[in-house]
Amino acid sequence: MKMPPFDYACPATLAEAIALLSTHDGDAKVLAGGQSLVPILAFRLAAPKLLVDLRRLTELRTIKINPDGVALGAMVRWCDIESDKRLRTAHPLLVAAVAHVAHYQIRNRGTVGGSIAHADPAAEMPGIAMTCEAEIVATGKAGPRTIKAADFFQGALTTALMADEIIVEIRLPAWPAGRRWGFQEFARRRGDFALAAAALFYDTAAGGKATNAHVGVIGVADRPLRLPSVEAVLNGATIDAATIAKAEAATTAAVDPDSDIHASGAYRKALVGTMVERALKMAAEQTP
Ligand SMILES: Cc1cc2nc3c(=O)[nH]c(=O)nc-3n(C[C@H](O)[C@H](O)[C@H](O)COP(=O)(O)OP(=O)(O)OC[C@H]3O[C@@H](n4cnc5c(N)ncnc54)[C@H](O)[C@@H]3O)c2cc1C
Repeated sequence: MKMPPFDYACPATLAEAIALLSTHDGDAKVLAGGQSLVPILAFRLAAPKLLVDLRRLTELRTIKINPDGVALGAMVRWCDIESDKRLRTAHPLLVAAVAHVAHYQIRNRGTVGGSIAHADPAAEMPGIAMTCEAEIVATGKAGPRTIKAADFFQGALTTALMADEIIVEIRLPAWPAGRRWGFQEFARRRGDFALAAAALFYDTAAGGKATNAHVGVIGVADRPLRLPSVEAVLNGATIDAATIAKAEAATTAAVDPDSDIHASGAYRKALVGTMVERALKMAAEQTP
């Protein structure tokens, strides 16, 4: 279908972009790479009066790495993450997850801010944000605010973002050397959205036991989930075959996915357990 008619603005400053959103009172939408928004318009699932294109806001395209962690500007694209060699040590879990996002053309235009704002429950970036306790910095007519990922995702395609707010940055806490991590995803074809995926990491305490375990899953609920019951299995344990089997069982017990046209709920429930099992094996086999 053809897109509904809309006006188009391409502001030169963030202030101008926010003013445009504010004056349209919920009837304007931000355009980042268009990789989700354009299909939504074409399917007539949204019909905003105005699109506010962020492409001239070059300050939103930076990747900052400092002792506090990694700060991704909202307009950073998947291909920017892929080509930034610093991120391979500064945040290997992010790099591994982004390798599963979509196809070449989409990766050249799709952005982290767009993915976080779109909040697809099967998308990798919201899953990484949840797993890593990311902070999302948004700014609107009331000024900037920082939202924890756990408060940001409120349901499928639903977030805590106000109509006049623009995501400017996604902050991932620092990644210590020696951290063990795993990312595993199952999709029908490479580049498709995940049927289920697991992102996890843990640090190693004295005696080789796991500590600070973070386990996130995507594709099994209306938003990305962290699984405290699985983290409890891992914390204080040696990550061996017995612990991994317990973590797999705890994962399937913790989720209750709906059935849809892509897979039954029962299939996704079993699949996500296998994803956690494989991600833990991947982490345990790493040479830190
Ligand atoms: C065929 C196909 C396959 C795909 N496969 C995957 C996949 O496997 N995994 C995956 O994660 N994604 C996948 N995607 C989506 C892709 O990753 C997009 O990058 C992502 O959805 C965001 O698109 P975008 O950055 O172009 O944002 P847009 O499409 O421009 O915007 C998306 C939404 O976010 C809002 N928005 C954008 N930027 C901001 C901002 N800074 N502040 C506030 N709101 C904002 C827009 O108003 C809109 O509502 C796929 C897309 C396609 C078309």
